[in-house]
Amino acid sequence: MKVWTEKKAEDFLSKEVPVAKSVLLKVPGTSQALKFRFPCVLKIISQQAVHKSDIGGVKMVHGKEEMESAFKELEGIAKRKKIKTDGILVQEFVSGRELAIGISRDPVFGHVIMFGLGGKYIETIHDVVFRVCPITENDADSMIEDMKYKKLLYGVRGEKAVNIHEIKKILVRVSKIPGKYPKMKELDINPLIANDREAKVADARIVWE
Ligand code: ADP
Ligand code: MG
Repeated sequence: MKVWTEKKAEDFLSKEVPVAKSVLLKVPGTSQALKFRFPCVLKIISQQAVHKSDIGGVKMVHGKEEMESAFKELEGIAKRKKIKTDGILVQEFVSGRELAIGISRDPVFGHVIMFGLGGKYIETIHDVVFRVCPITENDADSMIEDMKYKKLLYGVRGEKAVNIHEIKKILVRVSKIPGKYPKMKELDINPLIANDREAKVADARIVWE
């Protein structure tokens, strides 16, 4: 079994769907990171930190000084927790609704795709739907229709609706990935961040057979 952490999984996915721009910095120093527009997000990338935010390993940064202190903080966390890191990821900030898309392998149905609300409330709210891969745009439509809190996508209290068409396109594309890569055991995109213009993968993990 092989596990791909965020950067590797996102580079792979970027051939199929939109992914938030990022660079993995392997040596300390902020010069490359400063090419990013603010706000941006810094993350500890490590095989030993599956849930980065649980260890304080995700930081939003609004300016140069904050960038430097966030770098130091993240390096400190890695040291204290004795985590071996692959580096620190600097990622474009994407604003919007947090969604989740997953692929898993069912013993009866084969690869199935999951879609639902994402982010840190995913376990609490647990509004998810499943279909067998691959799916069509009509299936993607019905997945969204089956969501309990689909209103959150259409916008509440004057919010703009997210780009539903784009989300459907992404669902269809993700559902076709296991057909090309049958050894994919699990894919976990959480979050996919969607707003009225775009939707981008902002965290991903892949488990291979
Ligand atoms: P993990 O799931 O390993 O804890 P994530 O990379 O999913 O870490 O980040 C945790 C949370 O931080 C996300 O659910 C989201 O709220 C926020 N976040 C992460 N990356 C971005 C980004 N590029 N833009 C905006 N928010 C982000
Ligand atoms: Mg995540």
